[in-house]
Amino acid sequence: MSQLSSRLGQFRPSPTTEMGALVRRLRAEGRDIIGMVNGEPDFSTPDNIKDAGIRAIATNNTRYTDSNGTAELRTALSAKFKRENGLDYAPDQIVVSSGNKPLLHAALLAMIDPGDEVIIPAPHWPSHPDIVQMAGGVPVSVLCPIEAGFRLSPEALEAAITPRTRALVLNSPNNPTGAAYDRHELQALIAVLKRHPDIWILTDEIYEHIRFDGRDMPSLAALDEEIAARTVTANGASKGYVMTGWRIGFAGGPRPIMEAISSIVGQLIGSPSAISQAAMIEALAGDQGFLQRNASIFQERRDIAVEALGQMPGLRCHVPEGAFYLFVDCAGVIGCTQPDGHVIQTDDDFVRGCVKHAGVAFVPGSAFGLSPYFRLAYSLETGQLRVAMERLRRYCNMIH
Ligand code: PLP
Repeated sequence: MSQLSSRLGQFRPSPTTEMGALVRRLRAEGRDIIGMVNGEPDFSTPDNIKDAGIRAIATNNTRYTDSNGTAELRTALSAKFKRENGLDYAPDQIVVSSGNKPLLHAALLAMIDPGDEVIIPAPHWPSHPDIVQMAGGVPVSVLCPIEAGFRLSPEALEAAITPRTRALVLNSPNNPTGAAYDRHELQALIAVLKRHPDIWILTDEIYEHIRFDGRDMPSLAALDEEIAARTVTANGASKGYVMTGWRIGFAGGPRPIMEAISSIVGQLIGSPSAISQAAMIEALAGDQGFLQRNASIFQERRDIAVEALGQMPGLRCHVPEGAFYLFVDCAGVIGCTQPDGHVIQTDDDFVRGCVKHAGVAFVPGSAFGLSPYFRLAYSLETGQLRVAMERLRRYCNMIH
């Protein structure tokens, strides 16, 4: 009988997808569940961007494009990298793809050989280690505790580097913690990386526009030329530009690796959607006010959620600097008894209890490499958010 490849044994089903399926099943049974699971903004794509997509269809801008994206979009992205990030990437140093994910795959395929180690600060987005494994690499999780603001310290980075280390994946602002690095923290990491000139750096900056409190969050590659020569800056339209379904990602970096990424991405996806690329040009050229407006809405929701969590027995969180997640320490509910008599032993038990008994769904921290925690996505209209937090508060009081 035909067998599936042994490679598949390395992958777990996505915990976010699993929780999403449980929420759908309970809703189908008539239960009222508030989902705080999904990693996407709850806003709509701005009208001017949608109109540009519609115009592209109406004018038959619907064919294959260059596999690395249209020259017009790469020129607009080159200007964006300069304007917003202080990065000098010429259009031929930029690759556009169907979302950021294929770029992460291509970058790692270009950076590492089988058996090479890739350092990933934890908690991390589950796909980062999975993508390293698909490229044949060995993900090395480095724990960044809540006390360190979930950020990688230079000491922890230095201690994780071995002769097999070939790359570091740095995600700021981070999914699932919302932690982001300022200039000084990045400079401290750069000082370590300069002692190890063979290490590539892949930065995932997809949440860059969702930043709070006026914080300075520079791109790593903008801070040092030597580091820029071995950094790929990956980004995308999904989160800040509210374009998850349009599937546009983009990356910039030094020419030789971007040429390699371009040819790998070309093999993976052919070319990105012409329609979505036309919409992305408008996203970059049109009114930029929505970026700040949406970030302010997320900041208000963050404040509501953080304040509410402060009233709940057994829970503790770090105030995030960006993105739209809270990563909540639930060590204080371990050992509590749920209404059905089950004793909570893990974050998974707590999260399942929340969905069953409180009607609010999260993703357990085990999915992101740190337990007992859970990720709460506050990509939810304010009224709903308040109801969800009240349900969680009542549940925590009930089990204590
Ligand atoms: N990188 C991070 C850290 C994410 O959280 C996500 C989506 O959740 C992505 C990348 C995926 O981005 P895209 O929709 O552009 O593939």
